[in-house]
Amino acid sequence: MGSKTVINRWTPHTRINWVEDVFWAGSDTLKARAISALTWAFKEWETRVGVLGFHKNAVGAAGGTTIEYCLSYSEEVHPTNPKAVCAADLPNTRPLSIIWCYPLANDSTDDGLRQIMLHEVGHVHGLQHEMDEAVATLIGVKNVLSVMNYGMRYDLQQSDIEAVRAFYALPAGPFGQAVIERTNERSE
Ligand SMILES: [Zn+2]
Repeated sequence: MGSKTVINRWTPHTRINWVEDVFWAGSDTLKARAISALTWAFKEWETRVGVLGFHKNAVGAAGGTTIEYCLSYSEEVHPTNPKAVCAADLPNTRPLSIIWCYPLANDSTDDGLRQIMLHEVGHVHGLQHEMDEAVATLIGVKNVLSVMNYGMRYDLQQSDIEAVRAFYALPAGPFGQAVIERTNERSE
């Protein structure tokens, strides 16, 4: 008998709109690299997982499009993890969420930045770190190679794909969140 828990997610099978920050405070080089890496990561999730679509909107585009995410640069390190290269807000009801690049992103290779963005897009889907049992609720099988673990590699695993599809197939609770049985009692 697990206790109920509610996990925020976006409405399944909708399109998430994103923009680059017009006030990007980092270098133009990093901005171009970050946009490229994030575009690649969104496409990976869209084509291989397929529960959300992603669209980069033109800066300043007119019309009533709701923008869910902005790719931004922070000159300050992450408030709780000074070693963070990037970070992404989980799904929430605020008007705009952020995917951050921190100063350490300047030291990342293009490939490294792509792998990190692949992980950040997992957060965009509503996923916590798989190894962080205090806050994460496991759906499906545990896999140390999960894209949501910290490690030497961040590839999207088949177990990640299946778990996220299962998460987005759960019935909607209040505000469209998924309500699931919590089975990991240690996390209480
Ligand atoms: Zn993370």
